[in-house]
Amino acid sequence: MLVLSQTCPAATDAHITDDPAQLLRQADRVSPTRHVEFEALMRRLDATRSRMSLQQEWHLRYLMARKVAFRGDFKTAIPQLEAISNQSVDPRLAFRANATLIDLLVTESRYEEAFTRMGPLLDKLPQITDKNVRIQALGVASQLYLEAGQYDLAVNYADQLLRESDTHLRDCIGWNYKLQALFRSGKLEGDDRQLALGIAACGKAGNVLMADIFKSFVANVYLQRGQPAKAIRLLQKYYAMAERKHYPPLEADFNSTLALAYWRSDEGKLAEDYARRILESSIKRPYSEATMVAYQVLYMAAKKQGHFASALAYHEKYMAADKGYLNDVSAKALAFQTVKQQVLANQLQIETLNKQNRILQLQQALGKKAVETGRLYIILLLVILAFIAYVAYRFKRSQLSFMRMARRDSLTGLFNRQHFLDEAERVLRYSEKSSQEACLILIDLDYFKKVNDTHGHATGDEVLKRAVVACQTHLRSTDIFGRLGGEEFGILLPECSLHRVGERAEQLRLAIAEPPGEDDGGVSVTASFGVATTACSGYELRQLLIHADDALYQAKKAGRNRVVVFDCAGGVSSAQPRKSRTEM
Ligand code: GH3
Ligand code: MG
Ligand code: MG
Repeated sequence: MLVLSQTCPAATDAHITDDPAQLLRQADRVSPTRHVEFEALMRRLDATRSRMSLQQEWHLRYLMARKVAFRGDFKTAIPQLEAISNQSVDPRLAFRANATLIDLLVTESRYEEAFTRMGPLLDKLPQITDKNVRIQALGVASQLYLEAGQYDLAVNYADQLLRESDTHLRDCIGWNYKLQALFRSGKLEGDDRQLALGIAACGKAGNVLMADIFKSFVANVYLQRGQPAKAIRLLQKYYAMAERKHYPPLEADFNSTLALAYWRSDEGKLAEDYARRILESSIKRPYSEATMVAYQVLYMAAKKQGHFASALAYHEKYMAADKGYLNDVSAKALAFQTVKQQVLANQLQIETLNKQNRILQLQQALGKKAVETGRLYIILLLVILAFIAYVAYRFKRSQLSFMRMARRDSLTGLFNRQHFLDEAERVLRYSEKSSQEACLILIDLDYFKKVNDTHGHATGDEVLKRAVVACQTHLRSTDIFGRLGGEEFGILLPECSLHRVGERAEQLRLAIAEPPGEDDGGVSVTASFGVATTACSGYELRQLLIHADDALYQAKKAGRNRVVVFDCAGGVSSAQPRKSRTEM
């Protein structure tokens, strides 16, 4: 196999040079079978070692590993190639080392390792442009799948090799793999056109050996089709030529096919003869197909001749050879399946991981979306809340303004009648509890109808407002001032004694009666006052109102513009001393 997979033609420019790069190229092109030339190149390369770059040094190590392998020392060559394949800085060299390594691993029956390396090698193949390296890899792949009984794959790679081939030698190698695969899978006919093509290609390449191997395929096909005589004729025609090649695998093929062909032609003696030739020459592989055939034929012949002791001995050997051969075949197939399963398992794992990754990405995206949606909801809720708060605020404000409007008189801004009564009641309750005196003053503007009639309603309004402002300047913050209707007002004074109330009412009367400035339109007005006190009337508002109204009536009756305090002692109102003064 090592010989076959060496695709390089012999060096043609083997002139003397000491350039490491040129020497390396030459050594690459020298066929491994040309030992002397190869060894000489290697010695010259070794001498240039001090001038080599790191990459060139790895290249030299590869050639040395190959030299070791050609010597048959696979055990030393394999770790060297592994190191180059794993550590070389040159990917092309790593690829070549890997291809050679697979070749050696198969020779060493380390099939699982070979298959494990094959997959990645084929994965890298599209990046390899070097023709030699590509052909080498395709050859190794075809050979490996051939060994594993994966004939379709082997044919596949052999076809690719044939397509890429541009020399007869490469054609011959491609045909070798392809025809072997077709032959072993039982797809080859004795007169198959492909066989002729393969034989022609190998003939043109000068590889007569390979052409002979193809002839042994043809003979085998005849044998399988029940034409042993045809097989014998073909092989005997080329037997002497094949023998001269001293190539044990070819001899083994010829001999085993002939042994079986003679056996089936009832030529027992000749069958035994060729079977023995197999056992004499096949030394390398004790459990080859040929060995198995040899013991089988010898066993059958001994049995037929009645030599049962030797028949038994041959049968045991036949069984051992058969088992060994089948073990080897199934070891290859098992290794292939194991690696295939591992690859599938790895793919499955990668797919699972990819899927998991995708799920995680989706979850993450969903999470992000959920957060975004959540944020949107929060923002929406906040907007709604702000809107509700705003509406509530507006509502409360208008409610408050309504309440204010409901409590106040629009013209003067004073408490309206109802609110005045409520507040007065509240203050009276407090005064009663704290045993403090309070007073109620009722005010009615005098001849107000006349003001309206004379100056108009608008002026009447202004006069009304002025009278209110005049009173307010003399009131405390605790006093309750309200408009009871028309031009009538009420004032409740907490903490106000009977002795002080006349004086305070008089202050108000004078303030209203104060002649207006020119700016105010010059309309003067007076007012009459009726006063009632808790000291005299008690804390009941109703009673206070009656007494104050009574006093007011007295004030009007007495001529207006005066203060009358309800006198509880007399039951009738009495005018204050100062009132008489203002009367004048
Ligand atoms: P007196 O009280 O001195 O007996 O005479 P008077 O003219 O004031 O009589 P009365 O109290 O009966 O008349 C009240 C008048 O006040 C009737 C109405 O025209 C006027 N008046 C009531 N409310 C308003 C108001 O809001 N604006 C204006 N301009 N006039 C009003
Ligand atoms: Mg009135
Ligand atoms: Mg009046």
